[in-house]
Amino acid sequence: MNKTSSSMAKSDETAAAAAAATTTFKRNLPKMPFVRKSQPIPTVDDCDRPACDGVADFMTAAMGRIQHQNQVKQKIYEAECPPNSPQLGRSSWTLLHSMAAWYPENPSTEEQNMMVNFVSALARFYPCTWCASDFQEKVQEKPVQATSRKDLSVWLCEQHNVVNEKLGAEIFPCDMKTLDERWRKSGNPQCNNDHL
Ligand SMILES: Cc1cc2nc3c(=O)[nH]c(=O)nc-3n(C[C@H](O)[C@H](O)[C@H](O)COP(=O)(O)OP(=O)(O)OC[C@H]3O[C@@H](n4cnc5c(N)ncnc54)[C@H](O)[C@@H]3O)c2cc1C
Repeated sequence: MNKTSSSMAKSDETAAAAAAATTTFKRNLPKMPFVRKSQPIPTVDDCDRPACDGVADFMTAAMGRIQHQNQVKQKIYEAECPPNSPQLGRSSWTLLHSMAAWYPENPSTEEQNMMVNFVSALARFYPCTWCASDFQEKVQEKPVQATSRKDLSVWLCEQHNVVNEKLGAEIFPCDMKTLDERWRKSGNPQCNNDHL
């Protein structure tokens, strides 16, 4: 076996070991630890799609992001697979916070209605059903604040923090300076947004 085929065989073995480790890891996990206690625990059939599959990521975070699991996760990201819950979540928050960052300072009534409807539709159709059901409840408790860019950005930040808290993730500061630095125009030269 030459050097190239030997290293290819090695990488196949690593991929197979990583896949086996993920399967074993998931099988041994408690079911859906991020579902609120007041909700009936859904059966697997309630959401048999990758968008609901965030258990491995959640437990990985809880266990201190063990390096081995990060390697497994890396392998999953390398392949072009349908998004699991964390991947979908990151992309969705990116879209939502970016929309809020560029929302008008003084939106028209029509624009406000469009934003309220957009968030309602997201809460209704978000493909991670556990996430959607909690989000719908939170939006009912504290309806979308779409009267200005600031109101929307802060409202969204607070909603995101509700989920962060539930997952044991860091709470993000919801002041406009920090939000704009993250989602609109960063002072970090690496962000290359001088054109703004
Ligand atoms: C509507 C919605 C509901 C969700 N509900 C659930 C759920 O019930 N259970 C579940 O397991 N997952 C849920 N998710 C996914 C979850 O929120 C995360 O997206 C996922 O766990 C990946 O987390 P992450 O650490 O990559 O960062 P994310 O939480 O995705 O955040 C991405 C980036 O946003 C920035 N950020 C973080 N917090 C804030 C904030 N408050 N305001 C502004 N910027 C911020 C940070 O720079 C961070 O790196 C939900 C996602 C969405 C969009």
